[in-house]
Amino acid sequence: MSEAWQQRLADARAHRQQTERWRTRQVAKSNTLDFAGNDYLGLAQDPRVSEAQAAGAHRYGAGAGASHLVSGHLEVHDALEEALAHWTGRERALLFSTGYMANLGVLQALADRHTALFQDRLNHASLIDGAALSGARSRRFHHRDAIDLESLLARSECAHKLVVSDGVFSMDGDIADIATLAEVSRQHNAWLMIDDAHGVGVLGDNGSGCVGSTWNSTDVPILVGTLGKALGTAGAFVAGDAELIEHLIQFSRSYIYTTAQPPAIAAATLKALEIVQSEPERRDQLNANIAYFRHEALQLGLPLSESATPIQPLILGDETRTLSWTLQLQQKSIQVGAIRPPTVPKGESRLRVTLSAHHQHDDIDQLLAALHHCQQQEALCSPCV
Ligand SMILES: *Cc1c(COP(=O)(O)O)cnc(C)c1O
Repeated sequence: MSEAWQQRLADARAHRQQTERWRTRQVAKSNTLDFAGNDYLGLAQDPRVSEAQAAGAHRYGAGAGASHLVSGHLEVHDALEEALAHWTGRERALLFSTGYMANLGVLQALADRHTALFQDRLNHASLIDGAALSGARSRRFHHRDAIDLESLLARSECAHKLVVSDGVFSMDGDIADIATLAEVSRQHNAWLMIDDAHGVGVLGDNGSGCVGSTWNSTDVPILVGTLGKALGTAGAFVAGDAELIEHLIQFSRSYIYTTAQPPAIAAATLKALEIVQSEPERRDQLNANIAYFRHEALQLGLPLSESATPIQPLILGDETRTLSWTLQLQQKSIQVGAIRPPTVPKGESRLRVTLSAHHQHDDIDQLLAALHHCQQQEALCSPCV
């Protein structure tokens, strides 16, 4: 590596280290209690889903062998798209290899510099990156603030406006006000896109998400869902009217220029989708776990945010404190997300606890005891006032 490059990379890493934003990864251990993942219904480990995946691999092979528009679009992909469209009450759905790619692909295919994008300030990184890739003029409105959105829309003279929001916000767990977003978008002749990555499988009728069957494609023309979270597999989809989907097939570069998802994953996802719809008790169990955790955490006086979803953030403020709590939990083999800037604004570092239907009461009790211990340690260390 040239000296100039070496210096540039070293400077960037040093800066990240100084600001306590250094990220580390760990090989997941089987004896760890996982309160960091997104497997909300426990389907990633469900033997019926793994068996469907194995059967898919035997039938179709290990990989798709080509992109969808060449020869990689297999009948199992097609069947999954149809099932996803039916589930979300849309005419058609289109499979992408990841949610990140779906968001890049939708924004790049729909928007250009003659388009104005309006994004919630807390939208997922993939939506922000998609906006940059599209070259559109992008504005961010205050989180869940329809009045701010409305004033930005009113000031825009652009003929093509697109409002974009997460359905469930990934770092806060709160839910977008779809009714208001749909209404404001309609009034200003804007299209609405909702990324319901954390809502599908978890919220709504049949687990179809916070948009799903509740809001039709007139209210929410562009719906994105991911398959690596509550569905337990991998990939993503865009659901909408047939014309939208055809447009994406023609123009979405992250759809066109990539190998189709391995067919075995699509086979596993079909099985997971069947379970999501036929076993509502998984959502009941998840909601019972959320209610139990919240009740107990509030009793302990933990700094819990308002959230009705599996994402339950504890806002600790600074990065050092967040890291300290995370390490103490790790020592007890409990994994939670340590979320720090630049993922969240400065001063809003947090532990991101995520709950799943597969957690037992005893697991949640262990987490609560460990969190309580962190609180007590702090009380001992800080001087009395
Ligand atoms: C996780 C997530 C994505 C990315 O999905 P992947 O399939 O993991 O690439 C996109 N949007 C939101 C809101 C997410 O939480």
